[in-house]
Amino acid sequence: SVCWHGRQKRLFSTTKRRITIMPAWVIDQYGGNDVLRFTKNASFPVITYPNEVIIKVNAAGLNPIDVGMRGGYGASSLSMKRDPLNLMQNGMEFPLILGRDVSGVIMECGLDVKYFTERDEVWAAIPPWKQGSLAEFVVLSANEISRKPKLLSHREAAAIPYVATTSWSALVNTGGLSKDNCAKKRILILGGSGGVGTFAIQMLKAWGAHVTVTCSQNAEWFVRDLGADHVVDYTSGPVEKPLSELEKFDLILDNVGGETERWALTLLKPWSGAKYVTLVTPFLQNTDLLGIADGMMQTAATVATKALKHLVKGVHYRWGFFAPSGPALDEISEMVDAGQIRAVVEETFSFSQVPHAFEKMEKGHARGKTVVQIS
Ligand code: NDP
Repeated sequence: SVCWHGRQKRLFSTTKRRITIMPAWVIDQYGGNDVLRFTKNASFPVITYPNEVIIKVNAAGLNPIDVGMRGGYGASSLSMKRDPLNLMQNGMEFPLILGRDVSGVIMECGLDVKYFTERDEVWAAIPPWKQGSLAEFVVLSANEISRKPKLLSHREAAAIPYVATTSWSALVNTGGLSKDNCAKKRILILGGSGGVGTFAIQMLKAWGAHVTVTCSQNAEWFVRDLGADHVVDYTSGPVEKPLSELEKFDLILDNVGGETERWALTLLKPWSGAKYVTLVTPFLQNTDLLGIADGMMQTAATVATKALKHLVKGVHYRWGFFAPSGPALDEISEMVDAGQIRAVVEETFSFSQVPHAFEKMEKGHARGKTVVQIS
């Protein structure tokens, strides 16, 4: 509370009135890269709930979902999350600010914020239904943020939170893994060279697992350098063949999707609690196409049918999802400061180059993360 009042006073005393606008990249409609618009007049975020903080963004990280959301991906379910009673008209999400990772400094705390204070350096993964980090400031709940690792610059820190909290949700909450039960477990990561893969390899290796990764041939040394024990090239023929010749796995994390589901579950050790967790799910597409109620019914029916089909063969089929979590980031921050996990920044863009950053993301073939230096 001290911090909130202090800030209020300072803002009033130095400027005589509260700041109401800020620079940001926004979209006013869904579409291609041409819908990205830079403005100096985006609304300054306000603290609506007492557990919220305003963060001055130093660096922002991009994820495939930003490219998807620019084109309208998830629009109906995200609108419902923003406005559950549907009080606002369609299109009220605009101007929409993208950018799911933030590293920056707290400049204002709500009255109930206890564990953080003004000027703390923090990092966070921003839920897709909230305004993003391609702006000078962002407002988040205190339970979504965490103290940034000391070893990393803001630019490096912005490469981690979204893929880290997604990996944590998929591997720990859905997959049942932890630092205490991973030793010698055989894990397969389908798609090891992108944002999620480069993070998940490092976390699982730090926990003592044996990690096999699929990626294209030119990424082999890149993923080996992050700790992968065994690498299978998917570009030189059907990857399921060499994979089926290996000892079976305790868990598969699928970052690729599509056809992989047809064969991946046969690579698991049956009747041992082994799980296949895929991050490539039709959840948001279903709600976009069918509307919320039908989309959710369709989704529930699909996952239940698939889970049951595999359960009778002794393996578990699960969908993994991003989940915001300050506490998970606290643990990851410790691992980073202990030298167990490093940031894998493929390319950094300046704030004025945001459309170039999106172009790069759209080309695919990520080798780690794309970051935007905001200030
Ligand atoms: P990236 O774009 O950072 O990485 C994807 C990587 O996969 C690239 O390195 C690409 O390189 C590689 N790749 C492409 N095709 C194959 C293949 N057939 N086999 C092996 N590797 C392949 O994406 P992220 O890591 O950030 O995300 C991965 C997936 O997870 C995305 O589909 C994303 O939408 C999804 N996701 C879902 C979430 C959820 O809540 N459900 C949350 C976060 C991510 P190359 O093409 O050169 O091989």
